[in-house]
Amino acid sequence: MNTKNVLKKKQVLVGPVVIGGGAPVSVQSMCTTDTCDVKRTLEEIDRLDEAGCDIVRVAVPSAEAAQALRRICFKSPIPVVADIHFDYRLAISSIRAGADKIRINPGNMRDKNGLVKIAKEARKACVPIRVGVNAGSLDRVLVDEYGGVTPEALAASAVLAVRELERLDFTDIVVSAKASSPRMMIETYRLLSDVLDYPLHLGVTEAGTKSEGVIRSAVGIGTLLAEGIGDTIRVSLTADPVEEVRAGFAILKALDLRQRGATLISCPTCGRTEVPLMEIAEEMERRLASIHEPIKVAVMGCVVNGPGEAREADVGIAGGKDHFVLFRQGEVVRKISKEEAVDELSHEIDRLLSERRGLLEPT
Ligand code: SF4
Repeated sequence: MNTKNVLKKKQVLVGPVVIGGGAPVSVQSMCTTDTCDVKRTLEEIDRLDEAGCDIVRVAVPSAEAAQALRRICFKSPIPVVADIHFDYRLAISSIRAGADKIRINPGNMRDKNGLVKIAKEARKACVPIRVGVNAGSLDRVLVDEYGGVTPEALAASAVLAVRELERLDFTDIVVSAKASSPRMMIETYRLLSDVLDYPLHLGVTEAGTKSEGVIRSAVGIGTLLAEGIGDTIRVSLTADPVEEVRAGFAILKALDLRQRGATLISCPTCGRTEVPLMEIAEEMERRLASIHEPIKVAVMGCVVNGPGEAREADVGIAGGKDHFVLFRQGEVVRKISKEEAVDELSHEIDRLLSERRGLLEPT
């Protein structure tokens, strides 16, 4: 997996985070706060950092926001990207304020001479530019030329902007071309991957609320990553942005591209289940959310698939009649009652993590 990507794409540095050229796929999110409210924005960035977010983007819709960006960039624990639409001067101000990357939208950059000025300033400051095309704001000329918003039109918009930057001798570029349709974004990124050797930022834009949006993003982003296309991702959700980071890592974990935090394996239950598995799995999901180290935990209902999955996990439980068998690293530890299952499983996970950190002697 990912060999196409590893061999082909250039590398871009966003602060200390490497994008492309075989670097781990980074997870991005975007603040929902008013950028002028520096305190709340930094609080949200701290929560995103805690969740594992590699790069954060903030909207810069005004000169005041660009001014606030200076304090945000100074204090942010992770690289900050300035999201620019319409006005090239905001990109210039953001670069001067310390942004680690600029996102511009070629579909709404009204002053075509603005790109020349942005490229000049970005080169001077060694700040990369993301050419961020969006199906919702595609240049009308291209919409007319291609007979609608199509993958070809989206890809053309990105390629035109990239070639313009190259003419300006600027090659520190990341490219995205998002659509709310997973199928359309998949086809667009496949086209881009064939013609560009710049890192690709993947996303299904306006994907929806948490339940629907995670699925749409997993289909779009996951399909491309499985083909080796994509170097950095953002899951766009109408939800707390921390959920975007969790979903991003869940996609990367599902494809074995990165490991962070716990992976919970749990069965759907069926007529064989004789333990309160759903409640236990839900409670374990809550408890596991605070773990950052990779660990695989299985919560299984019966002897059909339970012992197999529990043995394969780092720690697991397999249900029987009103009890569970606790497994750790492939071995049976002991039998536990269904009432003590959550606490015993949590205790065993804590022990294993403490041993890995060298805080406890191995049992
Ligand atoms: S593991 Fe057992 S309880 Fe769970 S779904 Fe499979 S057969 Fe049913």
